[in-house]
Amino acid sequence: PFEKSKGQHILRNPALVDSIVAKAGLKPTDTVLEIGPGTGNLTKRLLEAGVKAVVAVELDPRMVLELNRRFQGHPLSSRLKVIQGDVLKCDLPYFDICVANIPYQISSPLTFKLLSHRPIFRCAVIMFQREFAMRLVAQPGDSLYCRLSVNVQLLSRVSHLLKVGRNNFRPPPKVDSSVVRIEPRKPLPPVSFKEWDGLVRICFNWKNKTLGSLFKQKRVLELLEKNYKIMQSLQLAQDAEMGEEKMSADDVALLANMVEDLSMETPDEKEDDEMEMDDSDMGGDGGTSFKEKIMGILQQGDFAEKRGSKLSQVDFLYLLSLFNKAGIHFS
Ligand code: SAM
Repeated sequence: PFEKSKGQHILRNPALVDSIVAKAGLKPTDTVLEIGPGTGNLTKRLLEAGVKAVVAVELDPRMVLELNRRFQGHPLSSRLKVIQGDVLKCDLPYFDICVANIPYQISSPLTFKLLSHRPIFRCAVIMFQREFAMRLVAQPGDSLYCRLSVNVQLLSRVSHLLKVGRNNFRPPPKVDSSVVRIEPRKPLPPVSFKEWDGLVRICFNWKNKTLGSLFKQKRVLELLEKNYKIMQSLQLAQDAEMGEEKMSADDVALLANMVEDLSMETPDEKEDDEMEMDDSDMGGDGGTSFKEKIMGILQQGDFAEKRGSKLSQVDFLYLLSLFNKAGIHFS
């Protein structure tokens, strides 16, 4: 009676469950968040490891019933709290550490939900589909290095812990799995995540194109110029507030909303020839000079000939700081 749509694949290898728990480095003071406890094989071991509490969030009411039945009257049950609900929709409780064998379809949103939860947790030890895990830990130059790698690694240190074959599950899924450790960075790098992601999206839209050619695309230039003008008018608004002609708070809020609206959605993979370039040469119009401004920034950091697929965290941070210093913003 396992439901495929809910990613229900139960861990059947007790030795594997033990090594996942061992890798988590649990402390007696820890509150553990488990996501998708299912029938409770991992839950039981977590409780036996002697932690302060396990909070388990499970979507399927039948599984919740089964869990409650399994731990009913058990000496460990006073330290277990089961919440029935969708982990992506509910408010997460406080936790020090997350240990979970999750349904793979929620991997990406769940990872970012955990990383944006406050107070920030100490570490997460999570089973992912193998390819997703390899994307998480990929380094510049690796074939799986992508926006996910860069964004997760901005917020955390990730390491691959265990390879897990599909036959450790009942029913076996179609793919192999891996256990990954995610340790949030403390403190987080001082950047706006929206800005960071805006830059990274452009650089990975065609990850093997040079930044020089990516930033010549008409719609990239248009977006950046629009943002630039809004930032300038916001600056004017601020200046005006200081002087005689005050802009109302509503006007400023309106402008701020416009900035929000400009987030750029780009599909992940496209044919090279679809790329729309701004080939207009030195026509002396405003567009060209803005383009020169952008090219100047890329050259300043020696980025024009580089490719997103080879840039490290430090490279992206430096590039973003160069853009921001020149008043160029990505969100
Ligand atoms: N932890 C168990 C184990 O290792 O044997 C079961 C893992 S199974 C891969 C995933 C579990 O997550 C299932 O019990 C499923 O019902 C539950 N689940 C699926 N979607 C969920 C969601 N959005 N929120 C919380 N739980 C979910």
